[in-house]
Amino acid sequence: MPGSNKTERNRMLKANRAAGIGDEMGRIVRVKDPGVTLVCTICKAELKCTKSNTEMKNHASSKHGKANYEECFEGAEAHAKAIAERVSKGGGAAGGGGGKSADGLTKAERKKKADAGLDDLLGAGLAGAKSGKKGK
Ligand SMILES: [Zn+2]
Repeated sequence: MPGSNKTERNRMLKANRAAGIGDEMGRIVRVKDPGVTLVCTICKAELKCTKSNTEMKNHASSKHGKANYEECFEGAEAHAKAIAERVSKGGGAAGGGGGKSADGLTKAERKKKADAGLDDLLGAGLAGAKSGKKGK
């Protein structure tokens, strides 16, 4: 049905506004993690922390010849760990909600199961009827 999604969306926006959440339009803005930026202690370059801190490692080794990038970016390793933890947590939640129901089956899988069950019952019923007739 064309437009139904929009209507649904508008209703949600209105509800959000009523509930005082979201922006002035009621839109829920996904708050993007601003991240952590560390400043190189040597050249004052700002680099963003990631879970692997690849940029920082490259910076430390190529610009300053440091094997340990913590010398340039103090505490970077701790930030990286925190980011990695947050990412893995978020990913787990998203994966768990992947359209599966509590019993771990998708809708299609459940239907298939139900159909198979019906077939079994049907088969058993027919077999019973057949043998009953044969018994005559
Ligand atoms: Zn530097």
